[in-house]
Amino acid sequence: MNARGMTYVQGKTVSILGAARSGMAAAGLLSRHGATVFVSEYGIISEDKKHELQTWGVLWEDGGHTGKAVESDFVVVSPGVPSHSAPVVSALASGTPVVSEIELASWFCKAPIVAITGSNGKTTTTELIGHLFRNSGRTTWVCGNVGTPFSGVCDQCVSADVVVLEVSSFQLDHIDQFRPAVSILLNITPDHLDRYQYQFERYAESKMRICENQTSEDVVIFNFDDEYLREKMSKEAKNGPDQYSISINGPVDKGGYFERNALFLAANQQEEKIMYVDELALRGRHNVYNSLAAAVAARVMEVRSDVVRESLRTFAGVPHRLEHVREVEGVRYVNDSKATNVNAVWFALESFSEPVVLIAGGRDKGNDYSSLKPLVSSRVRSLILIGEAAEKMALELGPCVSDSVIAESLEDAVKLAHLLAKPGDVVLLSPACASFDMFDSYEHRGDLFKRAVSNL
Ligand code: ADP
Repeated sequence: MNARGMTYVQGKTVSILGAARSGMAAAGLLSRHGATVFVSEYGIISEDKKHELQTWGVLWEDGGHTGKAVESDFVVVSPGVPSHSAPVVSALASGTPVVSEIELASWFCKAPIVAITGSNGKTTTTELIGHLFRNSGRTTWVCGNVGTPFSGVCDQCVSADVVVLEVSSFQLDHIDQFRPAVSILLNITPDHLDRYQYQFERYAESKMRICENQTSEDVVIFNFDDEYLREKMSKEAKNGPDQYSISINGPVDKGGYFERNALFLAANQQEEKIMYVDELALRGRHNVYNSLAAAVAARVMEVRSDVVRESLRTFAGVPHRLEHVREVEGVRYVNDSKATNVNAVWFALESFSEPVVLIAGGRDKGNDYSSLKPLVSSRVRSLILIGEAAEKMALELGPCVSDSVIAESLEDAVKLAHLLAKPGDVVLLSPACASFDMFDSYEHRGDLFKRAVSNL
């Protein structure tokens, strides 16, 4: 728990911007702890949620934010509300503190927090670390972006537990005292630039904030192969967190690395082989990073090596991330709907040695597809594009393949893929784009893909 502590909110008036999952959880938390809460939602609040708010004694407005949204002692901003939105700007201009939902929740949390951020791999690594701590016998709360909001669990955990928290850059934009015991920076590659004035540096800076309140009693685990992170961490203050790194390009002094087909942990001039890479439950080079990060976090938190090994061997994976769907006529169908940026698609393509029929496209977030050209040329047999980005992607990536087609719908794309794929191929949905042009969410897109595949 940090300096503010549980009683800080008692008797305060608090506005919450956004009534999605984390906003609702924050409203519940604050009302449980004696604050007067007002929820302001730009869209419509469902009747069920209104009823819930009413039972907590929370007032609300929806269909837009009025001045009332910022008449409070402080404002809690949901991750879906951009920092440049009118109520955030006006609260900051009038000197009203604005905090994110994880900042609020951290005031109540007695358990050590293992916080995971990065452009890709957050959910996979969060779930993997959760699996690992559960196997170690410790009461484990997996929360954050991954599903259950931190505000929903933070006042229930005790100091012997562990909180494994997936953190997005939007949640980090408005932290103040948030201080994890272990922070993990998996990678920083361009994503969500539409929320950061199309400036990579701004987006990257917000991710780096995960360790800004950490001291030498805490630990940061970072990807040594990521140029940006390596450079930033080399400039970190001496009294900052204890640094552990991960690499797949050979030994590191302190942390975890991959060499001679095996994963190793290293510290105090000693190294320990954890396991061979083909024993890992998760395939692909990106998952070696995720597994190394999890193994180092476990080691720092004193989990035994046999538990680490067993957990990395038995993890079931997370749906919509390189998820095996079905084999039809010798062709394997893989759902990677969560690949909503270019880097995730790069790792997806890299993880297959078979020819790939790639289904991609959706809502463009200011993407530059050029880094995919070499892999598309070498691995992709046919490219099937959907959604708003289809033409832009066809112009850029079409010349790299012999077949490049635009499909009207995901169902049509799957039927086309079925026609174009040859036995031994992989049909991969890995969009590189957001889903909101044609679907409610990436889960919706992945589920429709799976349904279309099962109808073949
Ligand atoms: P996030 O929660 O950060 O979006 P996920 O674990 O949901 O990350 O994975 C998102 C996408 O990125 C999936 O397509 C997945 O296969 C890919 N991915 C997972 N881990 C990594 C990684 N370490 N580096 C690059 N891509 C990754």
